[in-house]
Amino acid sequence: MFDKILIANRGEIACRVMRTARRLGIRTVAVYSDADRHALHVSMADEAVHIGPAPAKESYLVAERIIAAAKKTGAGAIHPGYGFLSENAAFATACADNNLVFIGPPASAIEAMGSKSAAKQIMENAGVPLVPGYHGDDQNAATLKKHADDMGYPVLLKATAGGGGKGMRQVWSSDQFEEALEAAKRESQSSFGDDRMLVEKYLTQPRHVEIQVFCDRQGNGVYLFERDCSVQRRHQKVIEEAPAPGVNDTVRTAMGDAALRAARAIDYEGAGTVEFLLDTDDTFYFMEMNTRLQVEHPVTEMITGQDLVEWQLRVAGGEALPMNQNQLQINGHAFEARIYAEDPDNDFLPVTGTLSYLHAPDESAHVRIDTGVLRGDEVSIYYDPMIAKLIVWDENRTRALSRLTQALSEYRISGMTTNVNFLYNLASTNAFRQAELDTGFIEKHNAEIFHRNETDLEQLLPLAALFLIQRRQQRSIANSQSGDPYSPWDLANGWNLCGASIHDYHLLANGNEVTLFAEEIAPDRYTIRTTPEGASIATVEGNLSGEILHADVDGHRIRAVVAEHDATFSLFTQDSALQFSLIEPDCGDAETDAGGSGLTAPMPGTIVSLSVAPGSTVKKDQAVVIMEAMKMEHTLRAPSDGTVEEFYYQPGDLVDTGAELVRFNTAEE
Ligand code: ADP
Repeated sequence: MFDKILIANRGEIACRVMRTARRLGIRTVAVYSDADRHALHVSMADEAVHIGPAPAKESYLVAERIIAAAKKTGAGAIHPGYGFLSENAAFATACADNNLVFIGPPASAIEAMGSKSAAKQIMENAGVPLVPGYHGDDQNAATLKKHADDMGYPVLLKATAGGGGKGMRQVWSSDQFEEALEAAKRESQSSFGDDRMLVEKYLTQPRHVEIQVFCDRQGNGVYLFERDCSVQRRHQKVIEEAPAPGVNDTVRTAMGDAALRAARAIDYEGAGTVEFLLDTDDTFYFMEMNTRLQVEHPVTEMITGQDLVEWQLRVAGGEALPMNQNQLQINGHAFEARIYAEDPDNDFLPVTGTLSYLHAPDESAHVRIDTGVLRGDEVSIYYDPMIAKLIVWDENRTRALSRLTQALSEYRISGMTTNVNFLYNLASTNAFRQAELDTGFIEKHNAEIFHRNETDLEQLLPLAALFLIQRRQQRSIANSQSGDPYSPWDLANGWNLCGASIHDYHLLANGNEVTLFAEEIAPDRYTIRTTPEGASIATVEGNLSGEILHADVDGHRIRAVVAEHDATFSLFTQDSALQFSLIEPDCGDAETDAGGSGLTAPMPGTIVSLSVAPGSTVKKDQAVVIMEAMKMEHTLRAPSDGTVEEFYYQPGDLVDTGAELVRFNTAEE
């Protein structure tokens, strides 16, 4: 095996590869950009080499710098992780040219699967079933549209160079085709430098079931069963599990055999994943093959008891596979939940920020956390906003699922919006418990998943009030000693009403503005209202000790953890978590004109294109500006019928969250 390897990646996957390497006595070299100088993967490695500025195009994607770093440090092999250069055939070739082992398949196999359309041709020849569609070379818009029209809608446009759901658009009718094609092409061009498309029949209720395969140089191949990755948003996986619920041995074997046929058709070596769509009648269709380790590989590791990175290292070092098909077995059930810095209430848009508080559940035989960040780290605009992967295992699905919700409820993150509450609420739905899975799961159960947030809000408001009262008392004692009259925590305006002391707190929670009125009805006992004269929502008392809030809400004792950062705080109780922000009182000098266009940047990013000319009249919901953040396109639409008077930014300009992008005039009624 190797003495020293370089990991050409960052974040959790770099850390995860290093853990196995260390266990096997292999020394590790990290590479890092300016943004990652203090990152966990850098401190975990035995050595680390700086490879350039923050943008991946100037660091993690520059093959020459990575190869130079490997040569400089004497690493014998390069593990590419996933993303970045992991499926770049030219990089695999460059490694070989420099006498470095690329820990992955031969360049020819990457190349064969690199184009979704070429891959389909190979699979068709190998007798692997395909989704009906067009994957030819003629890229004329009219040709593509004709195939779509002939096939019948809905169809799915996919970037042939695609991955990660980018450059993909559903089209529901012929008249939407052109706009969708343009958007998909643009996204694909900016993500992959290639805008070729294929058109597929869009299946309306499929499951995403994928098979993990492994092949060695000696000609052996095995499959390590399947993963169900049906729970997706924006065509990207959020919760994966293994084995796939309801898949019987006959289907499993048929899919496993088809996956191995796919791998053999391209002389595969190493770890690979063959993705299938599984239809309601158990027919399955090849979607694509990923020629690398997948993000969700840990669920396979949990049910097979194998370390796939160790297998990768052994195979890349020329050893035979450690096991044959008969020795592999499924044991129990595993889930992985991807914890992202994103806003589920705002179309899952990525968010950025500093992890001012981060506490993960304890790891055990049942709970595994794969992460690349620590408290205080930044989630920046430059890279994928995944904070961690939470992986759980138990003897069966029901028990594993309760491990999942338990562990999610123990996650404490603040400093940015995350999807933890969303994941918790999703995993708690009846439909998820019953494993009623398909790729439309989130849309289908949207109401149930999101409704629960409002229940959370009702339950958490009294706790939020108690926290603010306690915090205010603590601060006013501290302030009387230090004299900071401007602390955001002292924004409550107390007044006297018939001798009663009432304080009000103006908050933003769950996208709602709420004012809480706290009236002291007995020493340290308060009635909470949401309007000055309205009914009481609760009577609270308690105390705050460090980050623990001991509360009594209408006689119900609750212990909550509070994580605060600047003027925001998050409350975590046994089964829900919610972030609150304090709003400064409106002193009357702010612009009262409510005629904001609504065309503000929802996240930091780059303007991609302006969809209309300045001065154009537009209809409500017509596309006005297209921007991109973290390689995702986002279309900003007209809030009403009106006129686009002026654009404040041009394509290529960087904009911050909240930047006003357009001067917009609403049409007269
Ligand atoms: P990417 O490589 O960009 O991740 P995939 O081809 O793997 O794209 O597809 C991602 C997801 O999109 C799938 O998991 C599935 O949910 C959905 N999908 C892909 N093809 C189809 C199809 N023909 N019909 C319905 N859903 C599809």
